[in-house]
Amino acid sequence: MVERIEALVVGAGQAGIAMSEHLGKAGIPHLVLERSRIAERWRTSRWDSLVANGPAWHDRFPGMEFPGFGPDAFVPKDKVADYFEAYAEMIAAPIRCGVEVTQIRRNVPGRPGFVAETSKGPIEAGYVIVATGAFQKPVIPAMVPENAGILQIHSNAYRNPGQLPEGAVMVVGSGSSGVQIADDLARAGRRVYLSVGAHDRPPRRYRGRDFVWWLGVLNKWDAEAPPSTDHVTIAVSGAHGGHTIDFRRLAASGVTLLGKTEAFQDDSVRFAPDLAENLAKGDKNYLSVLDEADAYIARNGLDLPEEPEARDIPADPECVTHPVRHLNLNEAGITSIIWATGYTADYRWLRLDTFGATGAVKHQRGVAAEPGLYFLGLPWQSRRGSSFIWGVWHDAKFLADHIAKQRGYLAYGSK
Ligand SMILES: Cc1cc2nc3c(=O)[nH]c(=O)nc-3n(C[C@H](O)[C@H](O)[C@H](O)COP(=O)(O)OP(=O)(O)OC[C@H]3O[C@@H](n4cnc5c(N)ncnc54)[C@H](O)[C@@H]3O)c2cc1C
Repeated sequence: MVERIEALVVGAGQAGIAMSEHLGKAGIPHLVLERSRIAERWRTSRWDSLVANGPAWHDRFPGMEFPGFGPDAFVPKDKVADYFEAYAEMIAAPIRCGVEVTQIRRNVPGRPGFVAETSKGPIEAGYVIVATGAFQKPVIPAMVPENAGILQIHSNAYRNPGQLPEGAVMVVGSGSSGVQIADDLARAGRRVYLSVGAHDRPPRRYRGRDFVWWLGVLNKWDAEAPPSTDHVTIAVSGAHGGHTIDFRRLAASGVTLLGKTEAFQDDSVRFAPDLAENLAKGDKNYLSVLDEADAYIARNGLDLPEEPEARDIPADPECVTHPVRHLNLNEAGITSIIWATGYTADYRWLRLDTFGATGAVKHQRGVAAEPGLYFLGLPWQSRRGSSFIWGVWHDAKFLADHIAKQRGYLAYGSK
């Protein structure tokens, strides 16, 4: 006898847990399969000093506050994992840990739904919700050869400065991971080189409000598409109480800023001549948030303290005015490179007709082209907030409603 369940959720990160909550509320029998532990990525795929990027009042599900943390605290990553474990227990989510889904295909003709092959045997399901995370497979550009005598790791494998060999470190990438890791290393006394590409860098706080609040009231979390096709990574940090990412401050602490990493030849890395331009665009983005916040305050007559000093941008340091274009890694004493260069998805285990020519998932707000199949936790799945803790909860509700509606259609005429 093959086990059968109405809805099968793959993955018990925040997305799988939110899905379970809404399926449970809608009375839809379901099972969540997790190959390791609940919220595993928060436990083991991130560096030791990582804290949530948003304050505790915001980066959470509506049903529970973070125990032991004030609303403005930035919760350490292990406590985020604990939170999701406790949340799953609170809602009595039917999660089976230690079960990997190795393949999902359509059931044979005449049988509804899907067959999931798992490490513990096959399961049939009427609906499948893929909640395996947006940040699955680390991407390292094929640039510096493996035999170059340098330790190369992705940001997902970085834990702490002590894990790296003695010597200087080059960090590639200026999103939240790259800047936070560069800062972590610089604070530990390491010599750090940071390759800075295009980025946005919203103010951490402005006029007494965190930037997550500003994104909320300015309706930017609910933006349905990136502001432009060349949308860039966001540099933000909750570390050390939270602070605005300021690349010039990093430079003042000893970090050497570099342009975008372009190529490697003869022990040397070449950088694009775009460092000053990247910083200027980041500043423009930063100042535009202040402008929009000021306009919102004025329009709504809010009594929030003025903060003119937020507009002071320090002068460019030497490494920006006279940028390094070629860096000989040996001469610079660089023994490690950390590639904070993002992730890609890996859906090879889904043997289903729901991918476009480029391999991207074909879906509408997470409802896949293949009937009965759903995705949850994708970046910009329905809006900007989709891949973040609080946003995924709302997308999960939409998907559970969709499944409930489909069940209604299928029940038509059955009585
Ligand atoms: C460094 C970093 C910091 C972040 N910080 C924040 C933050 O502060 N605030 C915020 O809102 N967001 C943050 N995010 C974004 C997002 O919240 C996280 O990536 C979050 O982990 C995504 O949750 P998820 O449930 O969608 O996916 P995941 O957490 O990746 O969970 C997917 C689960 O599926 C399991 N799984 C995968 N494949 C299978 C399979 N075939 N069979 C069974 N199980 C499977 C995995 O083991 C995993 O437990 C951060 C992301 C990164 C990379």
